[in-house]
Amino acid sequence: MITKTINAVPILKLAVNNYRRIFSIILIWISFSFGLAAQGSYDLIIRNGRIIDGTGNPWFQSDIGIMNGKIVAIKNLKNQKAKRDIDARGLYVTPGFIDLHSHADRAMTSDFIEPRMAKSLTSQGLTTVLGGADGRNTIWPLTKEMEALNSKGHGMNFILMVGHSTIRREVMGDDYERLATQDEIERMKGLLKEGLEIGAFGMGAGLEYRPARFSNTEELIALGKVISDYNGFYIAHQRNEAIMPLSQLPSTAKGWQVDGLQALEETIQIARATGIRVVGSHHKSRGRSAFGRSSHDIQVINNARDEGLQVFIDVYPYETFGGGARPMIPKWSLVDKNISIVGGRDDPKWREEGLFKNSRNNLKRNWSDSEKREIIKRDISWIVDHNGGQDRVVVVDYPDEALVGKTLQQIANDRNTTYQEVVVYMALNGYEEVIGGAWTRGYGINDMDVTNYYKQNYTITSSDAAVSGVKDREGFQSAPGAHPRHFGAFTRRIARYVKDLNTTTLPFAIRSMTGLPASVVGLKDRGYLKEGFAADITIIDFNNIRDNATVLNPDLYSKGIEYVIINGNFTVDRGELTGNLPGVIIRSNHENF
Ligand SMILES: [Zn+2]
Repeated sequence: MITKTINAVPILKLAVNNYRRIFSIILIWISFSFGLAAQGSYDLIIRNGRIIDGTGNPWFQSDIGIMNGKIVAIKNLKNQKAKRDIDARGLYVTPGFIDLHSHADRAMTSDFIEPRMAKSLTSQGLTTVLGGADGRNTIWPLTKEMEALNSKGHGMNFILMVGHSTIRREVMGDDYERLATQDEIERMKGLLKEGLEIGAFGMGAGLEYRPARFSNTEELIALGKVISDYNGFYIAHQRNEAIMPLSQLPSTAKGWQVDGLQALEETIQIARATGIRVVGSHHKSRGRSAFGRSSHDIQVINNARDEGLQVFIDVYPYETFGGGARPMIPKWSLVDKNISIVGGRDDPKWREEGLFKNSRNNLKRNWSDSEKREIIKRDISWIVDHNGGQDRVVVVDYPDEALVGKTLQQIANDRNTTYQEVVVYMALNGYEEVIGGAWTRGYGINDMDVTNYYKQNYTITSSDAAVSGVKDREGFQSAPGAHPRHFGAFTRRIARYVKDLNTTTLPFAIRSMTGLPASVVGLKDRGYLKEGFAADITIIDFNNIRDNATVLNPDLYSKGIEYVIINGNFTVDRGELTGNLPGVIIRSNHENF
């Protein structure tokens, strides 16, 4: 059973937890000494499973005995009894999956119970997620984030992290479009230290986004040195993953833009200057012009590792990126001519209400101006290339259903025109309330690169997913063109990249989602199937495992995850979601609670 004590002063709680820990160790010792286990005091025995322990080693057959939320025996338990038995013959028993790039925090701190169950994620076998993705904490400070998590419970374990963007915004406010001063960096270091003291395992960053994209490497190294004092780690959505960062278009970019390889080099530079473990998160070679860069990345990472630097990447198993469907038309072409574009594509002004109310007329005006038309065409070409190219960008929702499911190139061929003209046509004739008139999604990542990354022993499997598919709960529902990863990332890593493509062995894939991320984070009792470790366990029917979610049908549950156990409690039981909320907050140098 999990006992949750919350809202206490952390120091006091630490002391109480230490006593509790000693007490429970004594209890376990006593129960073994008196042979209670032999009399059937296990809460659960998983029998005859093929154990994949998270180290990458091949499976072996064994039973696993669980008591009080912990794995207490991995051995033959034939003559032992338990309150409950699972016959796992023919199934693979693995550590619960750990996700280092998760957007589940918003759901797990929601006012509503259903999102907190995180069904789209637990159904993939997930038991633990990392906070602070892309450098942002949903709630700040961490004490408040912990309170929100604990107030109503949460479906997965949650690892505390400090978000770089969170503390940068905290210190600089709205005046962040510049380098931080020495004094501001000192204040960020103070906030980071506070978070690490409370129990964060390190810092997440989102350098391609505001406010972090205005920081420099020196700022990150200064903060990395604080992380080093706590033996923590650094994980980043890096400064760019493509030829040009998300914030730029050919019409706005000036000079040489940091590219994906330089962004990786920055991550490595942080490891070199601080000695900490670093992770390039949801790492990818993004955009058609970057296809194939994985071989270069791998050489660079191998060299860094040879140098003694602790460099890792995490990768999600898809050829499409970004959370939702998106327009292929530059927004500036849809707004009044007095709107300045110098702030980039991520300027907050693009979200101002009413900005696009006259978009069709504005586009007609710009498109009929021959000079502007060439600039629009060039920007469309870049956006489409960045999303994989005209033969890899698919219309997922449009009033004329004949276009749905087709690529821009197919539509252009049908109409004997160019794909740029198709993009403009849809903006002028599609949904009036949708920017660009259509929902489109591109396959802007190449499977060759995904495969290449997955073969490396420093590559972690991640999802970049959020809780999705919750009916009647705004912000947690499925949307047209939503990313299939919300329902299928971890199952796809196994179904496609192990079963279909034979990219790696199953134990190697399981290690990339369990033992490896646990070791990079520095978890002490999760990520492996080991006596004394937390009972976070996923049981897989390998013959039937399959991700079902697709771009056109993004909210279909996966198959083949038979049981998911978190701290000894089931979130998936015989393939059915239980809706339990057995997650705990995991803090460094603290007891879980
Ligand atoms: Zn990101």
